[in-house]
Amino acid sequence: MTDKIQLTEEEWRARLGPERYHILRQAGTERAFTGEYEQNKAEGMYYCAGCGAPLFSSKTKYNSGSGWPSYYEPVAGDAVEELRDGSHGMVRTEVRCAKCEGHLGHVFPDGPQPTGLRYCINSASLDFKPEE
Ligand code: FE
Repeated sequence: MTDKIQLTEEEWRARLGPERYHILRQAGTERAFTGEYEQNKAEGMYYCAGCGAPLFSSKTKYNSGSGWPSYYEPVAGDAVEELRDGSHGMVRTEVRCAKCEGHLGHVFPDGPQPTGLRYCINSASLDFKPEE
């Protein structure tokens, strides 16, 4: 089981800065086609911007055309948590970091094989490190 990271709201604010705080801790969404990693094609690992946990490999990243970085699966089955999200008049599945419970984005059933899933993730929730 993952050891959870728990900070106070003030500690999160100080650690993340306003944009990342809004997305990770208040389930915000960056505007489509504006994120740092939407067009990133480099090989490497995407880590949680909140806690540093590895979340998505570039090997599973693909161009969905949605305007957000998209992956067909997380790097490990227990890296993320999926929760029902009924906000904004839609029923969606929210994706959170399992370690810090930071909001990452949503997962939709319209992705490519082998999973058929599209993890639609805010760039601001991620920190990319290229492969050495
Ligand atoms: Fe995290």
